[in-house]
Amino acid sequence: MSATILVVEDEPGIQEVLKFNLGQHGHDVLVAPDAEEALKLLRGALPDLILLDWMLPGMSGIELARRLRADPRLKNVPIIMLTARTEERDKVLGLDTGADDYITKPFSPRELMARIKAVLRRRAPQMTEDPVEIAGLRLDPVSHRVFGNGTPLELGPTEFRLLHFLMTHPERVYTRSQLLDHVWGDHVFVEERTVDVHIRRLRSALEPTGHNRLIQTVRGSGYRLSTT
Ligand code: CA
Repeated sequence: MSATILVVEDEPGIQEVLKFNLGQHGHDVLVAPDAEEALKLLRGALPDLILLDWMLPGMSGIELARRLRADPRLKNVPIIMLTARTEERDKVLGLDTGADDYITKPFSPRELMARIKAVLRRRAPQMTEDPVEIAGLRLDPVSHRVFGNGTPLELGPTEFRLLHFLMTHPERVYTRSQLLDHVWGDHVFVEERTVDVHIRRLRSALEPTGHNRLIQTVRGSGYRLSTT
C-alpha cells in the first residue's frame, strides 16, 4: 500500500523521522512546516492522508483540521493528529476536529504505520490491497491484474489506477477535476482532457468482456461506475 502523505510538522527532527519511516514503507511524503504552507501545498496536490501536528507556529493543527473539514475538496482526506501530551490527546478526542485518529509523541514508527494503515483501509479503500469485484469484473491490486468474467484484461498503469478508484467508489459521479485529484494526485498541472483520454482507453480495455458499459459518462458532470 503506497500513499501520498502530507506531514504538517514544524520540528525538523520529527519531520525527518516521519519522512524516513514513511519513505521506508513506500509512501510519498510532502512536508509543510506550518498550516499556511500546508494550505498552499493543498491547492495543487491532494494527499491520501495528512499527519497533522497539534502545536504549530501560527494557525494551530486543530484550526487547520477544521478548515480542511469545511472545504468540499479536502474534507474527505483522512487526518491523523500528532499530539505531544495526553492532555492534548484528550482534547483532540473531546473536540469535534474531524480528525480520524491521533497519536501521542513520542510514538514508535511501528505504531504510527499501523495507525496509518488502519485509517487508509477505512477511509481510502483504493489505497488498500484488497481485491474488488463488481458485476463479474475483478481487480486484484496485489497481482495488479484485472479479470472480466475470469478472462484477463490488459490495462495500462493509469487505467488500472482509474479503474481501482472507480470500483472502490461505485455509483457516484466524479468530475474530471476530482478524478485528477484522486487518481493523478494533481488537478493543477494536468489537463482535464487527460481524463477523457484515459477513460476512452479504459473502456476499450474492458470491451472484450462487455464491462465497458460499467463506465458511464454523466453529461455535464463527469464519470461514474455503475451497474445500472
Ligand atoms: Ca509542533
